[in-house]
Amino acid sequence: MTDSSRAPRLLAAMAHPDDAEILIGGILFHLKSLGWELGIMTMTSGDCGSATHTSEEISRIRRAEAKAAADYLGAWYGCAGLMDVEIFANADNLRRVVELMRRFDPDVVITHSPADYMVDHEEASRLARSACFALSMPLYQTRQTAPAPATKLTPALYYADPIEGVDAMGERVLPHFYVDTTGTLENKLEMLSHHKSQRDWLRAHHGIDEYLEQARRWCARYGRESGCNYAEGLRQHLGHGYPREPLLQNMLNSKIKSRTT
Ligand SMILES: [Zn+2]
Repeated sequence: MTDSSRAPRLLAAMAHPDDAEILIGGILFHLKSLGWELGIMTMTSGDCGSATHTSEEISRIRRAEAKAAADYLGAWYGCAGLMDVEIFANADNLRRVVELMRRFDPDVVITHSPADYMVDHEEASRLARSACFALSMPLYQTRQTAPAPATKLTPALYYADPIEGVDAMGERVLPHFYVDTTGTLENKLEMLSHHKSQRDWLRAHHGIDEYLEQARRWCARYGRESGCNYAEGLRQHLGHGYPREPLLQNMLNSKIKSRTT
């Protein structure tokens, strides 16, 4: 259920700068073209994402890159201020995440898969799940400066695919549905290219533009599985207390694909 008096609002709640672009960038551009208000929040500013800069330097650089990427999409950007490899689902961090989410007031949240390749992603997923539940609870206080009010509704919660589509044991995690992102792949890659520090780092390491090429490869794999050129996958959180109506599936109707292989 959404508030019909305003455009629907989707928040990508991810661990690090560039996760939203890599995992669901194509979906975000589809929703943008449908008139949705979009936001991207990252738990950290990517403060460990460099072999040459100090933590403070790379943090500043990556915040600016994340903002530029969000600007390219036409999305709001916020950072919860947690630290790389120290994202944990504890009370202090939850208060920061809920505060940021309340400020955006989403109808739909997409976060990481509960099982993923690194703990930061899994804990970000747990934080986002708890935060969605707490957003509309007026007695849940975030104890932040000038706190935003509780939201009216619990947002629908979706999970992106884990990186490379597998969990930490290498087991395949299948999406509930695929979204054909063939028409938005180039936008996604252009948005991703705003993360220049990460692209240059991988390019220096591999000698090729691996940053963009691996994103293209992963989408091509999902495309092969679902009978289109490029795709991204999602699962919906269907547990008690969360909206169960297939909001995104209905919105993206003509782009929704099932597994064909
Ligand atoms: Zn990440």
